[in-house]
Amino acid sequence: MLTNTFTNTVRNLAAGISVMIAMFVLSPQLTLLSFAFLPIVWIIGTRVGRISRQVNAQRQQQLATLTSQMEETLSVSGAMLIKVFGGGARAQKNFAEGNQKLSDIQIRRQMLGSWLFAATMSLFSIAPVMVYLIAGRQLITSDNPPLTIGTIIAFTALQARLVGPRSPINDLLGVRVQLQGSLALFDRIYDYLDLPITIQDKPNAISLPVRTLAGKVTFDRVWFAYEAHSAKHAAEPTFAEVDWTLRNMSFTAEPGQLVALVGPSGAGKSTSVSLVARLYEVQEGSVTIDGHDVRDVTLQSLSDSMAFVTQETYLFDATVRENLRFARQDATDHEIYVAARSAAIHDRIELLAHGYDTIVGERGYKLSGGEKQRIAIARAILKEPKILILDEATSALDTHNERSVQSALATLMNGRTTLAIAHRLSTILAADQILVVDHGYIVERGTHSDLLEQDGLYARLYSEQFLTQQQIDAVSLDEVVHPAVT
Ligand code: ATP
Repeated sequence: MLTNTFTNTVRNLAAGISVMIAMFVLSPQLTLLSFAFLPIVWIIGTRVGRISRQVNAQRQQQLATLTSQMEETLSVSGAMLIKVFGGGARAQKNFAEGNQKLSDIQIRRQMLGSWLFAATMSLFSIAPVMVYLIAGRQLITSDNPPLTIGTIIAFTALQARLVGPRSPINDLLGVRVQLQGSLALFDRIYDYLDLPITIQDKPNAISLPVRTLAGKVTFDRVWFAYEAHSAKHAAEPTFAEVDWTLRNMSFTAEPGQLVALVGPSGAGKSTSVSLVARLYEVQEGSVTIDGHDVRDVTLQSLSDSMAFVTQETYLFDATVRENLRFARQDATDHEIYVAARSAAIHDRIELLAHGYDTIVGERGYKLSGGEKQRIAIARAILKEPKILILDEATSALDTHNERSVQSALATLMNGRTTLAIAHRLSTILAADQILVVDHGYIVERGTHSDLLEQDGLYARLYSEQFLTQQQIDAVSLDEVVHPAVT
């Protein structure tokens, strides 16, 4: 806008105005006649500009659709999903359709400019004819013609300079259409830039003392809903109308304690741990760390004081070393190796083709589920957080891997406050406190034996889920592979 368009506009305006003044000096009447078509061209230009804006918006939309479609289908997980579900032909068809739509829009966009150019040229090519007709007639019929032949020739020469191909008027009209087209791009960019930032540092936010933090996490009567303003209620919903995900949740994880969250799927376990990192803002109540409301501290110090190990391990398409160093940019190679050893993954990394410099591939697809998890654990160890948030994986690990991950986790949890969405029996048994979450409420709390005694939801979940797992685990792999002949 500021380089091409601006300089073009200045140049064309300067040329256009000076030619117009010269024409006006030669003959004011013929000048007015020459520009009789200008309003029509202006109206056409406005219309074309508006259409260009719409077409550009459609083009951006279609381009975005096609790009995300390609990202999805060509990503490692997407490509695998397509293969195993035999969706290759469908994916190709979808791409061809999307691509065709984009081509159609592109052709329309190109044709729009040409159409305006052709219309302008046609209208302006009539202007010299009019000049020759009227001035020439006067020259022939009048005894004292107002213009000489020389003036008429000079006038039409100037006219051609002003309205011919690549002339100032044509360029200015083109720029106008381009500008209107660009507005569509601005609209789209500003749709994103203008999105309100809901979670950011308060002006007087304090920094959590990351190194000296005790790590006490407290939920005080927390109410949380993902969409407090649901579309169901046009007006501000009342408290009772909100579809709360977490309801009146209160608990305290003392420094160094292991608090296990258990409960049915969709109960709100992941949601509650995400509030500790302030990924969402609570609507009622508060989440505090060492007595500081998470809303009053800087987001940087908050993230510096905790680490997440989730079921879905995310690794960047970079080397193992870079993935580990993501936790702490200034970590030395020695610290990285120590962390990897603690997570029982060092030896495995050394066996990779290029050791720590092996590229793990998109989302770490070159590594097994257990390896990825242990790298994630090493990453968390390297960060040395005071608070650890753990979303335990249940599947994808064989017995050997499970044990390695288990011991890596034990090292990681040592001396840190841990909130664990617990699926492993060992975590549950070791927990200082188990919170049983159901429909967003903490319905039961206590240690494993307390809860079994209560004979409520936990006892039921335990007998349905954990006990079965324990029984499965009790059968050694050997027995499955080589069943004893009886
Ligand atoms: P699971 O054990 O299956 O992982 P969970 O107890 O961790 O379940 P949450 O992930 O906390 O459950 O989800 C609680 C509820 O919030 C669910 O009904 C879920 O559909 C909803 N939910 C989760 N994330 C979002 C989101 N980003 N936007 C809207 N609703 C969400």
